[in-house]
Amino acid sequence: MVSRVIPVDPFDLVIFGGTGDLAQRKILPALFRRFCSGQWAEGVQIIGAARTIHDRAGFQTMVAESLRTHAAAQCQDEGALRAFLDRVDYVTLDGYSNEGWDQLSDKLNQDRVRAFYFSVGPRLFGPLAERIKAHDLATPSTRIVVEKPFGHDLESARALNATLAAHFRESQIYRIDHYLGKETVQNLMAVRFGNMLFEPLWNSQYVDHIQITVAESVGIDGREEYYERAGAMRDMMQNHLMQLLCLIAMEPPAKFDPDAVRDEKSKVIRALDQVQPHHIVRGQFDGGGSGKGYSETVGNPRSTTESYVALRAHISNWRWAGTPFYLRTGKRLVARSSVINVMFKDAPHSIFGEEAGRHANVLSIRLQPNEGITLKVTIKEPGPGGMRLVDVPLDMSFAKALGSGNQDPPDAYERLVMDVIRGNQTLFMRGDEVEAAWAWTDPIIAGWHARGDVPKPYESGSTGPGDAELLMKRDGRRWQGINP
Ligand code: NAP
Repeated sequence: MVSRVIPVDPFDLVIFGGTGDLAQRKILPALFRRFCSGQWAEGVQIIGAARTIHDRAGFQTMVAESLRTHAAAQCQDEGALRAFLDRVDYVTLDGYSNEGWDQLSDKLNQDRVRAFYFSVGPRLFGPLAERIKAHDLATPSTRIVVEKPFGHDLESARALNATLAAHFRESQIYRIDHYLGKETVQNLMAVRFGNMLFEPLWNSQYVDHIQITVAESVGIDGREEYYERAGAMRDMMQNHLMQLLCLIAMEPPAKFDPDAVRDEKSKVIRALDQVQPHHIVRGQFDGGGSGKGYSETVGNPRSTTESYVALRAHISNWRWAGTPFYLRTGKRLVARSSVINVMFKDAPHSIFGEEAGRHANVLSIRLQPNEGITLKVTIKEPGPGGMRLVDVPLDMSFAKALGSGNQDPPDAYERLVMDVIRGNQTLFMRGDEVEAAWAWTDPIIAGWHARGDVPKPYESGSTGPGDAELLMKRDGRRWQGINP
Protein backbone atom coordinates (compact mmCIF):
# COMPACT_ATOMS: atom_id res chain seq x y z
CA MET A 1 0.00 0.00 0.00
CA VAL A 2 1.45 3.39 -0.96
CA SER A 3 1.01 6.04 1.74
CA ARG A 4 -1.00 9.11 0.79
CA VAL A 5 0.94 12.38 0.50
CA ILE A 6 -0.82 15.46 1.84
CA PRO A 7 0.85 18.56 0.36
CA VAL A 8 1.99 21.40 2.61
CA ASP A 9 2.21 25.12 1.86
CA PRO A 10 5.63 26.78 1.40
CA PHE A 11 7.57 27.17 4.63
CA ASP A 12 10.96 28.29 5.94
CA LEU A 13 12.75 25.87 8.24
CA VAL A 14 15.85 26.99 10.10
CA ILE A 15 17.92 24.17 11.61
CA PHE A 16 20.13 25.51 14.39
CA GLY A 17 22.91 22.95 14.61
CA GLY A 18 22.54 22.21 10.88
CA THR A 19 26.12 20.90 10.74
CA GLY A 20 25.61 18.52 13.67
CA ASP A 21 25.07 14.77 13.84
CA LEU A 22 21.30 14.80 14.29
CA ALA A 23 20.71 17.29 11.47
CA GLN A 24 22.97 15.51 9.02
CA ARG A 25 21.99 11.96 9.91
CA LYS A 26 18.29 12.31 10.60
CA ILE A 27 16.61 15.66 9.96
CA LEU A 28 17.98 16.53 6.52
CA PRO A 29 17.56 12.97 5.12
CA ALA A 30 13.98 13.00 6.45
CA LEU A 31 13.34 16.33 4.74
CA PHE A 32 14.84 15.04 1.50
CA ARG A 33 12.56 12.00 1.55
CA ARG A 34 9.52 14.25 2.09
CA PHE A 35 10.70 16.44 -0.77
CA CYS A 36 11.02 13.38 -3.03
CA SER A 37 7.51 12.28 -2.09
CA GLY A 38 6.20 15.45 -3.75
CA GLN A 39 4.77 16.83 -0.51
CA TRP A 40 6.23 20.32 -0.82
CA ALA A 41 5.02 23.36 -2.71
CA GLU A 42 7.46 25.55 -4.65
CA GLY A 43 9.59 27.89 -2.60
CA VAL A 44 10.27 25.81 0.52
CA GLN A 45 13.51 26.93 2.14
CA ILE A 46 15.79 24.98 4.51
CA ILE A 47 18.44 27.06 6.26
CA GLY A 48 21.21 25.43 8.26
CA ALA A 49 22.72 27.58 11.01
CA ALA A 50 25.80 26.96 13.15
CA ARG A 51 29.11 28.60 14.06
CA THR A 52 31.23 26.74 11.49
CA ILE A 53 31.94 28.96 8.54
CA HIS A 54 30.39 27.68 5.30
CA ASP A 55 29.11 29.44 2.25
CA ARG A 56 25.89 28.16 0.70
CA ALA A 57 27.70 25.87 -1.75
CA GLY A 58 29.93 24.47 0.99
CA PHE A 59 26.96 23.55 3.15
CA GLN A 60 25.15 22.05 0.17
CA THR A 61 28.17 19.82 -0.46
CA MET A 62 28.12 18.70 3.16
CA VAL A 63 24.39 17.94 2.97
CA ALA A 64 24.79 16.06 -0.33
CA GLU A 65 27.40 13.80 1.27
CA SER A 66 25.15 13.06 4.21
CA LEU A 67 22.19 12.33 1.98
CA ARG A 68 24.22 9.91 -0.12
CA THR A 69 24.88 7.97 3.10
CA HIS A 70 21.58 8.34 4.89
CA ALA A 71 19.04 8.60 2.07
CA ALA A 72 20.86 6.49 -0.48
CA ALA A 73 17.74 5.20 -2.23
CA GLN A 74 16.41 8.69 -3.02
CA CYS A 75 19.89 9.87 -4.09
CA GLN A 76 19.73 7.55 -7.08
CA ASP A 77 17.78 10.39 -8.67
CA GLU A 78 20.48 13.05 -9.22
CA GLY A 79 17.86 15.53 -10.47
CA ALA A 80 15.89 15.25 -7.23
CA LEU A 81 19.06 15.66 -5.18
CA ARG A 82 20.01 18.82 -7.13
CA ALA A 83 16.49 20.24 -6.82
CA PHE A 84 16.51 19.61 -3.05
CA LEU A 85 19.93 21.19 -2.58
CA ASP A 86 18.70 24.28 -4.44
CA ARG A 87 16.38 24.83 -1.50
CA VAL A 88 19.16 24.49 1.07
CA ASP A 89 20.93 27.57 2.39
CA TYR A 90 23.23 28.33 5.32
CA VAL A 91 24.00 31.09 7.79
CA THR A 92 27.04 31.22 10.03
CA LEU A 93 25.59 32.13 13.39
CA ASP A 94 26.34 31.93 17.09
CA GLY A 95 23.50 31.24 19.50
CA TYR A 96 25.33 33.07 22.28
CA SER A 97 26.07 36.28 20.38
CA ASN A 98 24.44 38.56 17.82
CA GLU A 99 26.73 37.31 15.07
CA GLY A 100 24.82 36.14 11.97
CA TRP A 101 21.28 36.96 13.07
CA ASP A 102 20.75 39.86 10.64
CA GLN A 103 21.81 37.63 7.72
CA LEU A 104 19.33 35.02 8.91
CA SER A 105 16.60 37.65 9.12
CA ASP A 106 17.30 38.74 5.51
CA LYS A 107 16.76 35.21 4.23
CA LEU A 108 13.38 34.60 5.87
CA ASN A 109 10.11 35.13 4.02
CA GLN A 110 7.14 36.93 5.51
CA ASP A 111 3.64 35.46 5.65
CA ARG A 112 4.47 31.80 5.72
CA VAL A 113 5.08 29.14 8.33
CA ARG A 114 8.47 29.65 9.92
CA ALA A 115 9.95 26.83 11.97
CA PHE A 116 13.12 26.96 14.06
CA TYR A 117 14.54 23.54 14.87
CA PHE A 118 16.82 23.57 17.94
CA SER A 119 19.12 20.69 16.97
CA VAL A 120 21.78 21.85 19.43
CA GLY A 121 22.83 21.04 22.97
CA PRO A 122 20.18 21.86 25.59
CA ARG A 123 22.20 24.74 27.02
CA LEU A 124 21.44 26.66 23.83
CA PHE A 125 17.65 26.25 23.92
CA GLY A 126 17.09 29.30 26.13
CA PRO A 127 19.60 31.62 24.39
CA LEU A 128 18.20 30.71 20.95
CA ALA A 129 14.61 31.39 22.04
CA GLU A 130 15.70 34.73 23.45
CA ARG A 131 17.60 35.74 20.30
CA ILE A 132 14.79 34.76 17.94
CA LYS A 133 12.58 37.12 19.89
CA ALA A 134 15.21 39.84 20.29
CA HIS A 135 15.90 39.88 16.53
CA ASP A 136 12.21 40.06 15.79
CA LEU A 137 12.16 36.78 13.89
CA ALA A 138 9.06 35.36 15.59
CA THR A 139 5.88 35.82 13.58
CA PRO A 140 2.41 34.55 14.64
CA SER A 141 2.98 31.42 12.52
CA THR A 142 6.42 30.70 13.99
CA ARG A 143 7.07 27.35 15.66
CA ILE A 144 10.08 26.14 17.59
CA VAL A 145 11.14 22.52 17.78
CA VAL A 146 13.06 21.45 20.85
CA GLU A 147 15.09 18.24 20.95
CA LYS A 148 15.54 16.01 23.95
CA PRO A 149 16.77 16.11 26.65
CA PHE A 150 14.13 18.51 27.94
CA GLY A 151 15.69 19.29 31.29
CA HIS A 152 17.78 17.17 33.61
CA ASP A 153 15.24 17.08 36.42
CA LEU A 154 11.97 18.74 37.40
CA GLU A 155 13.59 22.00 38.40
CA SER A 156 15.55 22.45 35.15
CA ALA A 157 12.54 21.38 33.03
CA ARG A 158 10.40 23.97 34.82
CA ALA A 159 13.05 26.63 34.24
CA LEU A 160 13.28 25.74 30.54
CA ASN A 161 9.50 25.76 30.16
CA ALA A 162 9.43 29.18 31.79
CA THR A 163 12.14 30.53 29.47
CA LEU A 164 10.38 29.25 26.37
CA ALA A 165 7.01 30.48 27.66
CA ALA A 166 8.45 33.97 28.08
CA HIS A 167 8.90 34.14 24.30
CA PHE A 168 6.46 31.67 22.75
CA ARG A 169 2.94 30.40 23.35
CA GLU A 170 2.60 26.70 24.23
CA SER A 171 0.92 26.19 20.84
CA GLN A 172 4.19 27.28 19.19
CA ILE A 173 6.45 24.87 21.12
CA TYR A 174 7.09 21.38 19.72
CA ARG A 175 9.00 19.17 22.18
CA ILE A 176 10.25 16.19 20.23
CA ASP A 177 10.27 12.63 21.42
CA HIS A 178 11.07 10.85 18.19
CA TYR A 179 9.51 7.64 19.49
CA LEU A 180 6.13 9.29 18.99
CA GLY A 181 6.87 9.69 15.27
CA LYS A 182 7.34 5.98 14.73
CA GLU A 183 4.59 4.39 12.67
CA THR A 184 4.04 1.59 15.17
CA VAL A 185 3.78 3.96 18.10
CA GLN A 186 1.01 5.84 16.35
CA ASN A 187 -0.44 2.46 15.53
CA LEU A 188 -0.83 1.85 19.25
CA MET A 189 -3.62 4.39 19.13
CA ALA A 190 -5.04 3.03 15.88
CA VAL A 191 -5.05 -0.53 17.20
CA ARG A 192 -6.61 0.43 20.49
CA PHE A 193 -9.16 2.99 19.40
CA GLY A 194 -9.84 1.96 15.80
CA ASN A 195 -10.85 -1.62 16.58
CA MET A 196 -13.68 -2.99 18.66
CA LEU A 197 -11.65 -6.10 19.35
CA PHE A 198 -9.10 -4.93 21.90
CA GLU A 199 -10.51 -2.06 23.94
CA PRO A 200 -13.11 -4.08 25.90
CA LEU A 201 -10.25 -6.34 27.09
CA TRP A 202 -7.80 -3.51 27.74
CA ASN A 203 -7.98 -3.41 31.53
CA SER A 204 -6.96 -5.18 34.70
CA GLN A 205 -9.79 -7.68 34.43
CA TYR A 206 -8.28 -9.27 31.32
CA VAL A 207 -4.67 -8.08 31.19
CA ASP A 208 -2.31 -9.83 33.60
CA HIS A 209 0.55 -7.40 33.04
CA ILE A 210 2.29 -5.36 30.37
CA GLN A 211 5.97 -5.45 29.44
CA ILE A 212 7.67 -2.57 27.67
CA THR A 213 11.20 -3.27 26.46
CA VAL A 214 13.51 -0.86 24.67
CA ALA A 215 16.76 -2.80 24.24
CA GLU A 216 19.78 -1.46 22.41
CA SER A 217 22.77 -3.45 21.29
CA VAL A 218 24.94 -0.34 20.93
CA GLY A 219 26.85 1.23 23.81
CA ILE A 220 27.33 4.92 24.48
CA ASP A 221 30.28 5.65 22.21
CA GLY A 222 30.44 9.31 21.25
CA ARG A 223 27.97 10.31 23.98
CA GLU A 224 30.10 9.46 27.04
CA GLU A 225 30.00 12.86 28.71
CA TYR A 226 26.27 13.34 28.32
CA TYR A 227 25.43 9.74 29.24
CA GLU A 228 27.54 9.70 32.39
CA ARG A 229 25.43 12.60 33.68
CA ALA A 230 22.13 11.17 32.44
CA GLY A 231 22.06 7.36 32.72
CA ALA A 232 19.29 5.15 31.38
CA MET A 233 16.67 6.60 33.71
CA ARG A 234 16.99 10.12 32.34
CA ASP A 235 18.03 9.19 28.82
CA MET A 236 15.29 6.64 28.07
CA MET A 237 12.88 5.90 30.90
CA GLN A 238 11.72 9.45 31.66
CA ASN A 239 10.84 10.13 28.04
CA HIS A 240 10.63 7.27 25.52
CA LEU A 241 9.38 4.51 27.81
CA MET A 242 7.13 6.92 29.66
CA GLN A 243 5.54 7.97 26.36
CA LEU A 244 4.95 4.35 25.39
CA LEU A 245 3.44 3.67 28.80
CA CYS A 246 1.09 6.64 28.33
CA LEU A 247 -0.13 5.50 24.93
CA ILE A 248 -0.69 1.93 26.05
CA ALA A 249 -2.46 2.88 29.28
CA MET A 250 -4.37 6.09 28.55
CA GLU A 251 -8.14 6.40 28.38
CA PRO A 252 -9.63 6.96 24.91
CA PRO A 253 -9.49 10.69 24.18
CA ALA A 254 -12.75 12.19 22.93
CA LYS A 255 -11.05 13.18 19.68
CA PHE A 256 -7.70 12.65 18.01
CA ASP A 257 -6.79 16.21 18.71
CA PRO A 258 -3.57 17.45 20.32
CA ASP A 259 -4.88 18.57 23.67
CA ALA A 260 -7.40 15.74 24.03
CA VAL A 261 -4.60 13.17 23.51
CA ARG A 262 -2.10 15.00 25.68
CA ASP A 263 -4.64 15.49 28.49
CA GLU A 264 -5.13 11.72 28.64
CA LYS A 265 -1.39 11.02 28.57
CA SER A 266 -0.81 13.49 31.40
CA LYS A 267 -3.45 11.76 33.50
CA VAL A 268 -1.56 8.46 33.21
CA ILE A 269 1.69 10.01 34.42
CA ARG A 270 -0.08 11.70 37.32
CA ALA A 271 -1.72 8.40 38.29
CA LEU A 272 1.62 6.57 38.53
CA ASP A 273 2.50 5.41 42.03
CA GLN A 274 5.96 6.14 43.30
CA VAL A 275 8.13 3.12 42.47
CA GLN A 276 9.28 1.10 45.49
CA PRO A 277 13.08 0.66 45.73
CA HIS A 278 12.74 -3.14 45.60
CA HIS A 279 10.83 -2.80 42.33
CA ILE A 280 13.77 -1.25 40.48
CA VAL A 281 16.93 -2.85 39.14
CA ARG A 282 19.84 -0.82 37.85
CA GLY A 283 22.63 -2.30 35.82
CA GLN A 284 25.89 -1.34 34.19
CA PHE A 285 27.43 -3.34 31.35
CA ASP A 286 30.86 -4.82 31.77
CA GLY A 287 33.18 -5.68 28.93
CA GLY A 288 32.49 -9.35 28.61
CA GLY A 289 34.26 -10.69 25.56
CA SER A 290 33.20 -7.77 23.38
CA GLY A 291 35.17 -4.65 24.12
CA LYS A 292 35.17 -2.08 26.89
CA GLY A 293 32.85 -2.05 29.84
CA TYR A 294 30.82 1.03 30.77
CA SER A 295 33.21 2.50 33.34
CA GLU A 296 36.15 2.10 30.98
CA THR A 297 34.17 3.71 28.17
CA VAL A 298 33.43 6.81 30.24
CA GLY A 299 36.90 6.83 31.80
CA ASN A 300 35.54 6.66 35.34
CA PRO A 301 36.27 3.41 37.20
CA ARG A 302 33.99 4.51 40.07
CA SER A 303 31.03 5.43 37.87
CA THR A 304 27.65 4.57 39.37
CA THR A 305 25.65 5.60 36.31
CA GLU A 306 23.21 2.97 35.13
CA SER A 307 23.23 1.79 31.52
CA TYR A 308 20.25 -0.44 32.27
CA VAL A 309 17.11 -0.02 34.30
CA ALA A 310 14.12 -2.28 34.84
CA LEU A 311 11.19 -1.41 37.05
CA ARG A 312 7.69 -2.34 37.99
CA ALA A 313 5.21 0.52 37.80
CA HIS A 314 1.61 0.80 38.94
CA ILE A 315 -1.08 3.10 37.67
CA SER A 316 -3.59 3.91 40.35
CA ASN A 317 -6.78 4.30 38.41
CA TRP A 318 -9.97 2.34 37.81
CA ARG A 319 -8.75 0.67 34.60
CA TRP A 320 -5.34 -0.53 35.75
CA ALA A 321 -5.57 -1.10 39.51
CA GLY A 322 -3.63 -4.32 40.21
CA THR A 323 -2.01 -4.66 36.77
CA PRO A 324 1.76 -4.16 36.89
CA PHE A 325 3.66 -2.54 34.07
CA TYR A 326 7.22 -3.83 33.75
CA LEU A 327 9.54 -1.47 31.91
CA ARG A 328 13.16 -2.13 30.97
CA THR A 329 15.76 -0.47 28.82
CA GLY A 330 19.49 -0.88 28.44
CA LYS A 331 22.61 -0.53 26.34
CA ARG A 332 24.81 -3.29 24.96
CA LEU A 333 22.08 -5.88 25.26
CA VAL A 334 21.75 -9.01 23.20
CA ALA A 335 19.78 -7.30 20.41
CA ARG A 336 18.21 -4.05 19.31
CA SER A 337 14.56 -4.54 19.98
CA SER A 338 11.72 -2.29 21.12
CA VAL A 339 8.54 -4.14 21.86
CA ILE A 340 5.43 -3.88 23.99
CA ASN A 341 3.90 -7.14 25.16
CA VAL A 342 0.35 -7.08 26.46
CA MET A 343 0.10 -10.31 28.43
CA PHE A 344 -3.51 -11.38 28.80
CA LYS A 345 -4.73 -13.57 31.64
CA ASP A 346 -5.25 -17.28 31.28
CA ALA A 347 -8.71 -18.47 30.36
CA PRO A 348 -10.62 -18.81 33.66
CA HIS A 349 -11.26 -22.51 33.14
CA SER A 350 -9.73 -25.02 30.76
CA ILE A 351 -12.27 -27.39 29.26
CA PHE A 352 -9.35 -29.39 27.84
CA GLY A 353 -8.05 -30.51 31.19
CA GLU A 354 -4.72 -30.08 32.95
CA GLU A 355 -2.71 -31.92 30.29
CA ALA A 356 -3.56 -29.20 27.72
CA GLY A 357 -1.34 -26.85 29.71
CA ARG A 358 -1.81 -23.13 30.40
CA HIS A 359 -2.16 -20.80 27.46
CA ALA A 360 -2.58 -17.06 27.44
CA ASN A 361 -2.84 -14.61 24.60
CA VAL A 362 0.00 -12.17 24.07
CA LEU A 363 -0.30 -9.10 21.89
CA SER A 364 3.20 -7.98 20.86
CA ILE A 365 3.62 -4.59 19.29
CA ARG A 366 7.09 -4.37 17.72
CA LEU A 367 8.38 -0.83 17.37
CA GLN A 368 11.77 -1.71 15.95
CA PRO A 369 13.15 -3.44 14.04
CA ASN A 370 10.60 -5.05 11.72
CA GLU A 371 7.69 -2.93 12.94
CA GLY A 372 4.53 -4.92 13.27
CA ILE A 373 2.03 -6.67 15.48
CA THR A 374 1.81 -10.29 16.54
CA LEU A 375 -1.05 -11.88 18.43
CA LYS A 376 -0.29 -15.19 20.03
CA VAL A 377 -3.38 -17.36 19.88
CA THR A 378 -4.02 -20.89 21.03
CA ILE A 379 -5.12 -23.53 18.55
CA LYS A 380 -5.30 -27.28 18.37
CA GLU A 381 -2.08 -29.02 17.54
CA PRO A 382 -2.67 -30.73 14.21
CA GLY A 383 -2.99 -34.49 14.09
CA PRO A 384 -5.07 -37.30 15.53
CA GLY A 385 -4.99 -38.60 19.07
CA GLY A 386 -6.57 -36.25 21.58
CA MET A 387 -6.77 -32.53 21.99
CA ARG A 388 -3.37 -30.94 22.43
CA LEU A 389 -3.06 -27.18 22.32
CA VAL A 390 -0.34 -25.08 20.78
CA ASP A 391 0.34 -21.33 20.63
CA VAL A 392 0.83 -19.83 17.19
CA PRO A 393 1.45 -16.24 16.13
CA LEU A 394 -0.90 -14.21 13.96
CA ASP A 395 1.87 -12.09 12.52
CA MET A 396 1.65 -8.78 10.68
CA SER A 397 4.66 -6.86 9.47
CA PHE A 398 3.92 -3.22 8.65
CA ALA A 399 6.64 -3.13 6.01
CA LYS A 400 4.79 -5.84 4.11
CA ALA A 401 1.30 -4.61 4.81
CA LEU A 402 1.86 -0.89 4.35
CA GLY A 403 5.24 -0.37 2.67
CA SER A 404 5.40 0.68 -0.95
CA GLY A 405 7.41 -1.88 -2.87
CA ASN A 406 10.68 -2.50 -1.08
CA GLN A 407 10.81 0.94 0.59
CA ASP A 408 10.99 1.17 4.37
CA PRO A 409 8.13 2.83 6.27
CA PRO A 410 8.66 6.59 6.80
CA ASP A 411 11.24 7.56 9.39
CA ALA A 412 9.89 9.16 12.59
CA TYR A 413 11.49 12.51 11.75
CA GLU A 414 9.68 12.68 8.40
CA ARG A 415 6.35 12.56 10.14
CA LEU A 416 7.30 14.85 13.01
CA VAL A 417 8.89 17.65 10.99
CA MET A 418 5.91 17.73 8.63
CA ASP A 419 3.55 17.82 11.62
CA VAL A 420 5.42 20.90 12.83
CA ILE A 421 4.83 22.57 9.47
CA ARG A 422 1.16 21.56 9.50
CA GLY A 423 0.82 22.85 13.06
CA ASN A 424 -0.25 19.51 14.54
CA GLN A 425 1.04 19.04 18.10
CA THR A 426 -0.57 15.65 18.80
CA LEU A 427 2.72 13.76 18.69
CA PHE A 428 4.70 16.30 20.71
CA MET A 429 4.99 16.54 24.47
CA ARG A 430 3.28 19.35 26.29
CA GLY A 431 5.16 21.26 28.98
CA ASP A 432 3.07 19.93 31.87
CA GLU A 433 3.49 16.37 30.60
CA VAL A 434 7.29 16.66 30.67
CA GLU A 435 7.21 18.14 34.16
CA ALA A 436 4.92 15.37 35.43
CA ALA A 437 7.35 12.78 34.03
CA TRP A 438 10.24 14.43 35.85
CA ALA A 439 8.19 14.64 39.06
CA TRP A 440 7.86 10.83 38.91
CA THR A 441 11.52 10.28 37.94
CA ASP A 442 13.28 12.63 40.37
CA PRO A 443 12.48 10.76 43.64
CA ILE A 444 13.70 7.50 42.09
CA ILE A 445 17.07 9.03 41.26
CA ALA A 446 17.22 10.89 44.59
CA GLY A 447 16.60 7.56 46.36
CA TRP A 448 19.58 5.97 44.59
CA HIS A 449 21.82 8.83 45.66
CA ALA A 450 20.53 8.74 49.25
CA ARG A 451 21.10 4.99 49.54
CA GLY A 452 24.44 5.05 47.72
CA ASP A 453 23.01 2.56 45.25
CA VAL A 454 25.49 0.87 42.93
CA PRO A 455 24.28 -0.64 39.62
CA LYS A 456 24.57 -4.40 39.19
CA PRO A 457 27.05 -5.48 36.51
CA TYR A 458 25.76 -7.33 33.46
CA GLU A 459 27.60 -8.86 30.59
CA SER A 460 27.63 -7.06 27.25
CA GLY A 461 25.49 -8.98 24.82
CA SER A 462 23.25 -10.41 27.57
CA THR A 463 19.63 -9.60 28.46
CA GLY A 464 20.69 -7.47 31.45
CA PRO A 465 21.44 -8.15 35.13
CA GLY A 466 20.13 -11.30 36.76
CA ASP A 467 18.22 -9.19 39.30
CA ALA A 468 15.90 -8.05 36.51
CA GLU A 469 14.88 -11.67 36.02
CA LEU A 470 14.30 -11.93 39.77
CA LEU A 471 12.08 -8.83 39.70
CA MET A 472 9.73 -10.85 37.49
CA LYS A 473 10.29 -14.21 39.11
CA ARG A 474 9.24 -12.90 42.50
CA ASP A 475 5.87 -12.08 40.90
CA GLY A 476 5.61 -15.49 39.22
CA ARG A 477 6.25 -13.98 35.79
CA ARG A 478 9.07 -13.79 33.29
CA TRP A 479 10.27 -11.41 30.63
CA GLN A 480 9.60 -12.19 27.00
CA GLY A 481 12.81 -12.76 25.02
CA ILE A 482 14.79 -9.92 23.48
CA ASN A 483 14.86 -10.95 19.84
CA PRO A 484 16.27 -9.01 16.90
P1 NAP B 1 26.29 17.74 17.70
O1 NAP B 1 26.66 16.78 16.63
O2 NAP B 1 27.27 18.07 18.75
O3 NAP B 1 25.85 19.08 16.97
C1 NAP B 1 25.64 20.28 17.66
C2 NAP B 1 25.36 21.38 16.66
O4 NAP B 1 25.20 22.60 17.37
C3 NAP B 1 26.49 21.58 15.65
O5 NAP B 1 25.92 21.86 14.40
C4 NAP B 1 27.21 22.79 16.21
O6 NAP B 1 27.84 23.42 15.14
C5 NAP B 1 26.02 23.60 16.75
N1 NAP B 1 26.41 24.57 17.77
C6 NAP B 1 27.15 24.37 18.88
N2 NAP B 1 27.30 25.52 19.58
C7 NAP B 1 26.64 26.46 18.88
C8 NAP B 1 26.43 27.85 19.08
N3 NAP B 1 26.94 28.50 20.13
N4 NAP B 1 25.69 28.50 18.17
C9 NAP B 1 25.18 27.88 17.09
N5 NAP B 1 25.33 26.57 16.86
C10 NAP B 1 26.06 25.87 17.73
O7 NAP B 1 24.96 17.30 18.46
P2 NAP B 1 23.76 16.39 17.90
O8 NAP B 1 24.10 14.98 18.17
O9 NAP B 1 23.44 16.81 16.53
O10 NAP B 1 22.60 16.76 18.91
C11 NAP B 1 21.87 17.96 18.83
C12 NAP B 1 20.73 17.90 19.84
O11 NAP B 1 19.86 16.82 19.51
C13 NAP B 1 21.17 17.64 21.28
O12 NAP B 1 20.29 18.33 22.14
C14 NAP B 1 20.99 16.15 21.44
O13 NAP B 1 20.77 15.79 22.79
C15 NAP B 1 19.74 15.94 20.60
N6 NAP B 1 19.60 14.58 20.09
C16 NAP B 1 20.54 14.06 19.27
C17 NAP B 1 20.37 12.79 18.77
C18 NAP B 1 21.36 12.18 17.82
O14 NAP B 1 21.11 11.06 17.35
N7 NAP B 1 22.44 12.84 17.49
C19 NAP B 1 19.23 12.04 19.13
C20 NAP B 1 18.28 12.61 19.96
C21 NAP B 1 18.48 13.88 20.44
P3 NAP B 1 29.08 24.44 15.33
O15 NAP B 1 30.05 23.76 16.22
O16 NAP B 1 29.53 24.64 13.93
O17 NAP B 1 28.51 25.67 15.91
